[in-house]
Amino acid sequence: MGDPAVKVELVAVGDELLNGDVVNTNASRLGRDLTDAGLRVTGVSTVGDGLDELVDVLRVAVERADAVIVSGGLGPTSDDRTREAIARVAGVELHRDPGIEQWLRDRYRGTNRTLAGLGLQQADVPEGGRILPNANGSAPGVTIEIDGTVLYATPGVPSEMAAMFGDQVLPDLLRRSGAPAPRAQRVLRTVGVGEGVVAQYLEPLEKDLAAAGAVEVAYLAVPGETRVKLTSTGPGGDEAVDAAAMRAYELLGDCVYAEGSEQLVAVVARLLVERGVTLAAAESLTGGLLASTLVTVPGVSAAFRGSVTAYATDVKSGVLGVDPELLAAEGAVHPQVARAMAEGVRGLLSGTYGVATTGVAGPEPQDGRPVGEVHIAVAGPEGTVAVSVHLPGDRDRIRALAVVRALELLRRVLLGLPHERTREFPG
Ligand code: ATP
Ligand code: MG
Repeated sequence: MGDPAVKVELVAVGDELLNGDVVNTNASRLGRDLTDAGLRVTGVSTVGDGLDELVDVLRVAVERADAVIVSGGLGPTSDDRTREAIARVAGVELHRDPGIEQWLRDRYRGTNRTLAGLGLQQADVPEGGRILPNANGSAPGVTIEIDGTVLYATPGVPSEMAAMFGDQVLPDLLRRSGAPAPRAQRVLRTVGVGEGVVAQYLEPLEKDLAAAGAVEVAYLAVPGETRVKLTSTGPGGDEAVDAAAMRAYELLGDCVYAEGSEQLVAVVARLLVERGVTLAAAESLTGGLLASTLVTVPGVSAAFRGSVTAYATDVKSGVLGVDPELLAAEGAVHPQVARAMAEGVRGLLSGTYGVATTGVAGPEPQDGRPVGEVHIAVAGPEGTVAVSVHLPGDRDRIRALAVVRALELLRRVLLGLPHERTREFPG
């Protein structure tokens, strides 16, 4: 190989992946780890348990790529045909490895199980291939070179696949490819703006980069957030990526809340702890999800006081002290109600700040308000602020997005930023 851009194709085997019973997490895991290691994933295929189909897919992958990683179909049952398919593609016979056969017999004896005759097929190795031992399960992997392409077959069980990949496959691949230098990469995390808007903001940067060609921009949308990945197109390239990141910060302004892997909730928790302040939450439509999200952060106990799930209207008035006349006049879904809830819980739980959510998660409208209308407020020493948003999606998504918006309003208040994004649309 020797070329830093080694092309790797992934092949996931199993009817369960085709019919939707199992999600192909092996592909996403391998894709991420290979990319992080500086290798290039150029294709992912999924194929069922049928031998002929598997042979076809493997042939194409072996022809196109420098390396092929297969997962699944190595086990002891009659639908596990990966070994046989590899032998066909390589045009060789399978032979039974006596060492592995003995290992299987010992293993089954040790666990007090009987080894069905078929299980011994796990000791079959295509001529010219080599066993990849499996320390976490019974199905050993296989590696073989076919027409200059190296192929690795790993078990389908994600933990077994991951261990075999990390311990054996990746080191072998890196050795063969001359250990490409990892490409420089930075990930900017933005909140509150969709992928399309972020891309519009970054248009000037993308124009410059298209001319220079040293950095690639990729967008990843996750609920409520857009991540911008800047990656150098070759080894080294740190300076080019740093320059691009600097420009991206200028263009995106205060939408960027963190870099790398730091989550929004971790940023908020860190800001609270750093400032030595505390937070109390009052949750209507999020029903405790905001509190539950906050407590995922280790160490947040220094700052998080607790939460009141004020779902029923009379709990909003009786426990949090929201004016019953306001509730009677406007209903529970109203910015004034969010403000009063935030102020109420701030006093009730003695927080420096109080945060509140109220809104309509659906599926039915409530108090004459449409599904997705959400009001969020933060009360603190500087006063109370509220934002009103219309969130898309079903009940779960609306509740999840409301949590993101509440965290984002907290971040903005704690940093003294304007309550909504300030970046004007370019052009
Ligand atoms: P064994 O049969 O010894 O467990 P195997 O190599 O035959 O190993 P499979 O039978 O294909 O593997 O899959 C084992 C289990 O692993 C499946 O039940 C499935 O839940 C899971 N699995 C298989 N492939 C994937 C994949 N691509 N992504 C996530 N999970 C998978
Ligand atoms: Mg199996």
